[in-house]
Amino acid sequence: MGKNQEKTVINTARLVREQMSDKDFELYLYSLKKLAENNIEGNLTYMTNLYNVRAFQVKAQEEMLENPDLQFAVIVLDFANFNTINEFCGRDVGDGLLMCVADALRSEAEGKAHVVLSHFRADVFSFFTPFEEKSELIEIVNHIDRRIAAYKIPYKVLPAFGICIADSPTMAVSTMRDYAMLALDTIKGKFYAKYAFFDEKMRTQMLLNKMVENDIIKALEEEQLMPYIQPKVDMESGKIIGGEALVRWKHPEKGIVMPMKFIPVLEKNGLIIDVDICIWRQIFKFLGKRLAAGEKVVPISINISRQHVFDSVFRDCITDFSREFHVPPELVVLELTESGFLEDNEKMYEHLCYLKQQGFTLSMDDFGTGYSTMTMLKNQPMDEIKIDRGFIVDIENPKSQSILSHTIDMLHDLDLNIIVEGVESAAQQEYLLKYGCSRAQGFLYYKPMPIEEFETLLDKS
Ligand code: C2E
Ligand code: CA
Ligand code: CA
Repeated sequence: MGKNQEKTVINTARLVREQMSDKDFELYLYSLKKLAENNIEGNLTYMTNLYNVRAFQVKAQEEMLENPDLQFAVIVLDFANFNTINEFCGRDVGDGLLMCVADALRSEAEGKAHVVLSHFRADVFSFFTPFEEKSELIEIVNHIDRRIAAYKIPYKVLPAFGICIADSPTMAVSTMRDYAMLALDTIKGKFYAKYAFFDEKMRTQMLLNKMVENDIIKALEEEQLMPYIQPKVDMESGKIIGGEALVRWKHPEKGIVMPMKFIPVLEKNGLIIDVDICIWRQIFKFLGKRLAAGEKVVPISINISRQHVFDSVFRDCITDFSREFHVPPELVVLELTESGFLEDNEKMYEHLCYLKQQGFTLSMDDFGTGYSTMTMLKNQPMDEIKIDRGFIVDIENPKSQSILSHTIDMLHDLDLNIIVEGVESAAQQEYLLKYGCSRAQGFLYYKPMPIEEFETLLDKS
C-alpha cells in the first residue's frame, strides 16, 4: 500500500464511521481486519518477525479506530551507532542486538491489550500502545532500555526513543510515527538524553521549516533577502572601522525573519549557497556604487557557509563580483565559521590561499566554539580571528578574564588581527581594552541596520 493509498484508507474509515450504524461499522472493521491479516504474512520483517511499517500502520490505525476512548502513543527506537557496532563487532553481534530488541519489545507487550510492535527497517523499531499516564510510557522506555543494556557486547550501545502521543483518535499513525522520529532526532547520539516527547515547540519548528522550504525559492526570485550591516568599531576612538553583512528575510506575510530561523534549514537542503551568493552580490554592488560616487567606504565582512569551501565555484564567484563591481579585494573580509576551517582538506586550503593571494582578508568566525582550534591556528591561512561572545558573557568571572587575556596574548603572538563580537556592556569594553584588544562589534555600539541607515552613518562619520 502506498502512502496515498493509506491516507485514502484512513479517510474512508473516518467517513464510514461517521455514516454507518455501529453494527455495520463493526462488520466493516472486521473485513478490514481480515484483509490486513491476509496480507500480514508478507508484511513481517525478516529475522525479527515483527510487523513491517505498512502492517504496523494498518494494525495500529485499526486499534485507534476501534478504541476511540483510549489514549495512544507511538514510541520509536533507533540506535545512534548501529553501523559502528556492525563494523566493530561483526554482523552476527549486530543481528543479535536486533533480536534482543525484538525480544524486549515482545516481553514488554506481553499481557497488554491493543499493543502493536514493528521493526520498521535496519535498526528502527516501534512500540504502539494505549496508556493513561505519561509516566507509563517512560516506564516502557526504561524497561526496554534496561533489556538492551543487559545485552553484553564490547561496545557502548546508544539507543534513543522518540514518543508521539495521539492528539485525537483519528490522528494518522503515519503522522505519529513521523513526529516520534522528529522527536528522536533531537536527542540521537546525545549521552544525556534517552527519550524525547514530540511537543509544541517541535511542531512550530517543523511548520517553520516547511515554510522556509516552500517559500525560499520565491524569496530568491523576488529579492526578499537583503543584507543588514552591523558596524564594527574601534573602541578607543569610537570610529567605524568596518561592517558585517547579516542576511534578513523580508517575508511578505511574516515580516522580517532572522537568519537563525532559516539558515539551519538551508544548510540542510543546500540552498544556503544561493542565499549567500545573493547577499554577496548586494554587498559588492553597494561597495562598487559608493566607490564610483567617490563616497566613503569601509571593509565589509560577508559570511561564507561551510558548504562553499570545497567548491571552486565559490572562489570564482567572489573574484568575479570583485571585477564586475570594481571593488578591490582589500575591502572585503571573508568570514568562515571556525568549524568551516577543516584540517586535512587540501581543496579548501587551496581555495582559501588563492583568495588570500588575491587580496581578500580571511577571518575565522566564532573562534572558541568549535574543535581543533589550536592546530588550525598554526596551519590555516587566516588574517583575523573573531572571538566569540561566549568568551566575554561572564567577564566578571576571574577564570573568564584569565582565558580571555591569555587568548588575546596568544593571538597577538601569532600576528593575527583580533576582533571581539557581542560586546554589550561598558565593563566588557573596559576589560578588552585592558587586555589589548580594541576592535569590537556589538549592541553596545550598533545593532545590525538596513544598508541605507549604514550609508547615512558612514556619510556622517
Ligand atoms: P554571526 O556571523 O556570528 O553574526 C553575529 C550575530 O550576532 C548576528 O546575529 C548579530 O546580530 C549578533 N550580535 C551582534 N552583536 C551582538 C551583541 O552585542 N549581543 C548579541 N546577543 N548578539 C549580537 P544574526 O544577524 O541573527 O546572525 C546570526 C547568524 O546567522 C550569524 O552569526 C551567521 O552565522 C548567520 N548568518 C547571518 N547572515 C548570514 C549570511 O548571509 N550567510 C550565512 N552563511 N550565514 C549568515
Ligand atoms: Ca559572522
Ligand atoms: Ca560570529
